[in-house]
Amino acid sequence: MNRPTTLNPDLLNILACPKCKGEVHLAENEDALVCESCRLRYAVRDGIPIMLISEAESF
Ligand SMILES: [Zn+2]
Repeated sequence: MNRPTTLNPDLLNILACPKCKGEVHLAENEDALVCESCRLRYAVRDGIPIMLISEAESF
């Protein structure tokens, strides 16, 4: 069974980039949260965003 990893929109509203405390938005394929200012991608695993700078991927 393949459950979609849809993120709760309320959760998205309260999330901020841990580095700049700025807004993050969901990536198009919903597998990451993106901070445009820092150019970092925070992975979303099983619907849980990993908001850690050390785990983030730069782009
Ligand atoms: Zn940021």
